[in-house]
Amino acid sequence: MNKITLNIDGRELQAKSGQSLLSVARENGIYIPTLCYHPRTKKAGKCRICVVAVEGLPGLQVSCSLAAADGMIVHTYTKKIIETRKMIVELYLASGKHDCPTCEADGECELQDVAKVLGIEKSGFPMSDKGYVTDSSSPMIIRDMNKCIHCYRCIVGCNDLVVNEVIEMGYRGSRMTVVCDLDSPMGDSSCVICGECVQLCPTGALTEKKAAGKESNRDTVKVRTTCPYCGVGCQIFLHVRDNEILKVTGVEAAKPNYGSLCIKGRFGYDFVNSHDRLKSPLVRKDGKLVEVSWDEALDYTAKKLSQIKNDHGPDSIVGIGCARTTNEDNYLMMKLMRGVIGTNNVDHCART
Ligand code: SF4
Ligand code: SF4
Ligand code: SF4
Repeated sequence: MNKITLNIDGRELQAKSGQSLLSVARENGIYIPTLCYHPRTKKAGKCRICVVAVEGLPGLQVSCSLAAADGMIVHTYTKKIIETRKMIVELYLASGKHDCPTCEADGECELQDVAKVLGIEKSGFPMSDKGYVTDSSSPMIIRDMNKCIHCYRCIVGCNDLVVNEVIEMGYRGSRMTVVCDLDSPMGDSSCVICGECVQLCPTGALTEKKAAGKESNRDTVKVRTTCPYCGVGCQIFLHVRDNEILKVTGVEAAKPNYGSLCIKGRFGYDFVNSHDRLKSPLVRKDGKLVEVSWDEALDYTAKKLSQIKNDHGPDSIVGIGCARTTNEDNYLMMKLMRGVIGTNNVDHCART
């Protein structure tokens, strides 16, 4: 791709021909706010907050949709630009029930963040009540279309990224809203509950049901780890407070999943804090499973394995590794089977 040179806010910058102005600015640490553009959904041009002034072009230009050109002179921070961005954000804040202190997204909302950067405390426009009833029919996701800003990120995510093709923009004019299938409640729709739309939503329009009421964006620590379910190794953030996982999100900047997760990886973490979870080994005594110490359990297992090997030979024993353990643990299990038991009967659950 050809290299071009352009000037943004007095800085001479190199860019690829065809690259958007927004992307050039971001690469060079120049802040331009946006609510609809997302590096993974790309298709944008909806929110109009990313306006900039380009010398020689009339009015303001939408920087996410305008390609950088050689010799362009761009301004991202003039009085007119700031006033325009403020007006658009104030219209968004007035367009629905944006009562931040009671919102699940409070503390991790991109609309709230942009409003703060622009110094907006309250919209100057009267707040409208769209009157949508909150859709809690999905077991994992709450939809509050009163907080939707029509950014289309969820739609691109569902249709183009995970290709589940469940949601679209329905109705027209002031009633335009995101619908599942033919406007079914989400819980009755063909949604497979991957949560991609929740991950991409910049506001509190789509939120995690299990985190509801837990202020999951306040006083939490984000712990990066690897999803424990299968061998793909998706990267996740655990949002933790007081040793409790409040929600899980995908790590957008990392391979292999770039933020996407399946239903298990995103929502299947209850077992971690479950009271039913086994915390010590069980050995069957007189027909009943009873809790024992690790020493007793290991001695018992070693004795039984030796007995089976002596009576029936090493190939009567098989070891199956687990995708939820580390590679190192699986390696040790393989060494135990081959080096100690003396069999090549080794397999792994992720292979089946
Ligand atoms: S969606 Fe964002 S701006 Fe709207 S109420 Fe929730 S936190 Fe506030
Ligand atoms: S949870 Fe997944 S399948 Fe369901 S609407 Fe969202 S992106 Fe589509
Ligand atoms: S539900 Fe969220 S992601 Fe979807 S269009 Fe509305 S604000 Fe955007």
